[in-house]
Amino acid sequence: MKYYYTRTKIFHFKDRIDKLPHDSGVIPSPVHIRLKPTNICCHNCHYCAYSQKNFKSFGKDRASNDSIPRDKMLEIIEDIIEMDVKAVTFSGGGEPFVYPHLLDAVKLLARGSVSFASLTNGARLQGEIAEFFSVYATWVRVSIDGWDDESYTKFRGVPDGEFTKIISNMKSFINMKGKCVLGVSLIVGEHNVGHIYESLSKLKDIGISSVKVSPCLVGDDNKATNEYHGKIFKKVKSNIEKCTSKLSDSTFEISDSYNELSEKYEKVYDWCPHIQLRPVIGADLNVYTCPDKAYNLGDGLLGSIKNIRFKDFWFNGKDKFFKVNPSVSCCHHCELNPRNVLLWEYLNSDSEHLKFI
Ligand code: SF4
Ligand code: SF4
Repeated sequence: MKYYYTRTKIFHFKDRIDKLPHDSGVIPSPVHIRLKPTNICCHNCHYCAYSQKNFKSFGKDRASNDSIPRDKMLEIIEDIIEMDVKAVTFSGGGEPFVYPHLLDAVKLLARGSVSFASLTNGARLQGEIAEFFSVYATWVRVSIDGWDDESYTKFRGVPDGEFTKIISNMKSFINMKGKCVLGVSLIVGEHNVGHIYESLSKLKDIGISSVKVSPCLVGDDNKATNEYHGKIFKKVKSNIEKCTSKLSDSTFEISDSYNELSEKYEKVYDWCPHIQLRPVIGADLNVYTCPDKAYNLGDGLLGSIKNIRFKDFWFNGKDKFFKVNPSVSCCHHCELNPRNVLLWEYLNSDSEHLKFI
């Protein structure tokens, strides 16, 4: 069995890791870019992290109507190909499949042999764009939190029938039988904790091969999140255990990310390795350090590419990647912290002692 979710993937790009420290004097190309084509979304989730006010870092300067103009998107992708970026994931801001130029963008990526993937709410995963993703994309991950049409209307402010449509879109996508892996991210909170088994059974029945169970974020500070999830933690864990013992097999992987929250707050390093490896390009044409500081014009902002090509911006000056001291300014949720810890240990290993494995 091969693993989709591992923390050690980055060590397959040793040449780029070795260029990360300031004194290397060179700037590596990113390995992977999160590209947010639009901030417009066809759902209206009451808990959407991009529009909640209780996130101090994440999303605070997002303008809900921003989208990357078509010509600029194609220019960015030309640069991504030329820079030998290995992968692009389309994500929100908004819903990537609402972006009218997504097909043009992925056609160009595919021609340039850049692997691509997308996070989505699944509502527009249909027609020509779905067929193209099925054949050429590496993965698509649909975020789900409800279990029927009624819950979707309640949680996402969408018309009746939306959940049925999304399930139907996923079934059709699986039947296209392309190489693209269709996964689901089940976002768990107090609103759906009683429906975890029901949701996962349904997803297995329609042929989904991989589900990641993750906690919903209720703010970006540790205390609020722990208080919220502390109340439901035992119930969630026992449900995940039940699902794993009854549903998981060689065709259906359940990845439990629910208990990783505590690892994602405290930072013990003073520069961030992932900024140069996995930055974010926002729909506002700003380049951000990472997903957890996206649309934060304070310490999340690396700079604007509105009037400059991405490749020229990226390779002009290494100082911008060292402005953030994570031990001081990243005391909020950070998806990449566990992997930063590994990289930091790798980069700071004493060379005299390396051979004593
Ligand atoms: S689908 Fe995602 S981006 Fe759209 S409103 Fe919901 S949480 Fe926000
Ligand atoms: S430590 Fe985490 S939150 Fe801070 S810049 Fe790096 S990836 Fe972003």
